[in-house]
Amino acid sequence: MRIGAFWTVVALSCAATFIMLELPYVNWARVAAPVDAQPLIIRRDAKGDGRFGASRSGGRSHRGVDLAAPLESPVRAIRSGRVLEVGSDRGLGQYVALGHGWRLQSLYAHLKTIAVKEGARVKQGEVVGVVGKTGNARHPWITPHVHLEIWRDGAPVNPEAVGLAFAGVAAGAIAERRAGDSADASDTGGE
Ligand SMILES: [Zn+2]
Repeated sequence: MRIGAFWTVVALSCAATFIMLELPYVNWARVAAPVDAQPLIIRRDAKGDGRFGASRSGGRSHRGVDLAAPLESPVRAIRSGRVLEVGSDRGLGQYVALGHGWRLQSLYAHLKTIAVKEGARVKQGEVVGVVGKTGNARHPWITPHVHLEIWRDGAPVNPEAVGLAFAGVAAGAIAERRAGDSADASDTGGE
């Protein structure tokens, strides 16, 4: 009886420790908003269209969505996970890639600064960096945004498929587009 009670206490304290350690990494929502600007607005400016699948130079299509947000505003993990990669790329600029398990990954690009290290665990909603204009978002006509990609089973998916909802395109976009008409709007460098 005593031995049974001992092992019950051991099991309960192991369970309690596990819960304490894992509680911060519970996803309380299916996806957390990657930027604080609400509602989420898709970038649309003289240099391009930030919707998933929009055309890009070289016959490519946009692998993510561009979410308009003020420069230096926080960029947040859509789900808890681990930092797979922190890097710098000609197109993406400074970026962070997260692995969320279940073969789900997310990538945040054009960041000004990065707040996490490779291999670190992150919580849902945790700040991974701040909005910047690095990579091919540096053009002055391009409105500040975070380029968000979501990958499932090794292929990019429309973020709407995992539950992100967008209110539409950035206000004033049409006027900006007219102003920039000298540049072919389809000539979007860019990610
Ligand atoms: Zn983009």
